Amino acid sequence: MATATLASTGTMGGTCASCSHLECIAARQIAAEPCRLCRRPIGFVPFYSEPDAKVHADCLENELAKKLKAGLPQTQVKFLTVEETAELLRVEPETIRNWVSQNRIPFRKAGAKTLFLLEEILEWTMPANKRPRRTRLLATR
Ligand SMILES: [Zn+2]
Ligand SMILES: [Zn+2]
Repeated sequence: MATATLASTGTMGGTCASCSHLECIAARQIAAEPCRLCRRPIGFVPFYSEPDAKVHADCLENELAKKLKAGLPQTQVKFLTVEETAELLRVEPETIRNWVSQNRIPFRKAGAKTLFLLEEILEWTMPANKRPRRTRLLATR
């Protein structure tokens, strides 16, 4: 993600203070949009454009730093194939297939394909008493 900075009013390439140039109007609109984090206007400092909001580069970096400090677990949404899971667990792909047919390992299905969620596999390898408690949605058939 690249930052963008609006050139401030009165500088080279900056917006006019008040005019009807389309570019200036667009720039002034962006500058007036609130930052997702601090709710202050974006103004003329570096910012990131997110899909549905804008955010000051500083604010976003602070937020990321805070998250890292808090040690919040990052959600690892990563799917592995049978072969990749076998490699990760240092077993043969055949073993993985057996475990799946015996329902001994958490697996997912994408159509006919068997996939494994990295996070679930890592969790599954932990001794039972160390596994984080979480509520699972039970599949109803
Ligand atoms: Zn202008
Ligand atoms: Zn901000």
